Amino acid sequence: MLPDLPALRSEFDAALAGARTTADLKAIRDRFLGRKAGLLTALLKALGTVAPDERRARGAAVNALKTDIEARLAERESAAIVEDVAPGVDITLPGRVPAFGRRHPLTQVRERIEDIFAGMGYQIIEGPELEDDWHNFEALNMPGDHPARDMQDTLYLATPMPADEQGRRASLLRTHTSGMQIRYMEAFPPPVRLIAPGRVYRRDNFDATHTPMFTQVEGLVVDEGISLGDLKGTLQAFANAFFEASVKTRLRPSFFPYTEPSAELDVECQGCGGRGCGLCKQTGWIEVLGCGMVHPAVFEAVGYDAGKYTGFAFGVGIERLALRLYGVDDIRMFYENDLRFLEQLAP
Ligand SMILES: [Zn+2]
Repeated sequence: MLPDLPALRSEFDAALAGARTTADLKAIRDRFLGRKAGLLTALLKALGTVAPDERRARGAAVNALKTDIEARLAERESAAIVEDVAPGVDITLPGRVPAFGRRHPLTQVRERIEDIFAGMGYQIIEGPELEDDWHNFEALNMPGDHPARDMQDTLYLATPMPADEQGRRASLLRTHTSGMQIRYMEAFPPPVRLIAPGRVYRRDNFDATHTPMFTQVEGLVVDEGISLGDLKGTLQAFANAFFEASVKTRLRPSFFPYTEPSAELDVECQGCGGRGCGLCKQTGWIEVLGCGMVHPAVFEAVGYDAGKYTGFAFGVGIERLALRLYGVDDIRMFYENDLRFLEQLAP
């Protein structure tokens, strides 16, 4: 009597389900598909004994079962190596998705700013966070008792660092990255076109709009004939690139000791299109950065010829730009390392 195909299929199913190793799979292959004694091989051979009117249907059914068994065996055989290595592992379980790290939103904003200025031919430089009085204040037109020093409440070291080659002792945590202007101009003659990103420190409370440590990008351009128009054009190009739109900007008069004239750059509020909303405190404008033309006293401090060269400088607060870009209203969110928040801002 010819074996019953559904019974044969059930037997194969049970054998395959019980197979744990490549040896088990080999035994199943021999039993069902072996060239001499395989059950299906025997069935195909026996087709000659089937009545001619049934032969065609019977042959098709046997072949379909054989094809199915071959495919399912091959699938298990290709995965069986894993099971041999780790017996008892259920290879049918879905894999675990590896958790990919992401750049912190502040790093993303910094890199975005760097990319824009690098594209305009700016050099990117970095320098020390422990700074001396000369580079942080004095050379930036803030001598000893200058009231502007109070604008930036400073964190001083209890013990100044050993003197460097110029006899200067780092005595404070830099309050801005503007000191990098001085360091660069002391070392290199004009022309200058640089940005200097980095962390800065101030004696501020930790609240929704202040942190004792934050990140700035300083910019400096010096050459013959650099004008306020160059500054405005550069910042307009930057704002367009950063906000990925043709944004309306304005320069509003301001004061910094190391620039004259000084200004704040505002961009039209993206939240309300200038009509006024909570984000822009109903003014229609968002303050983006401080800037100005380099003060001649700064050129004198570094030995540049102030009669020959002019330049502009600007300082961007990365946290402030990140707040605008992501529509976040509390700067502390960037420092609390809550992954639910950080992952929302990932690209
Ligand atoms: Zn607004």
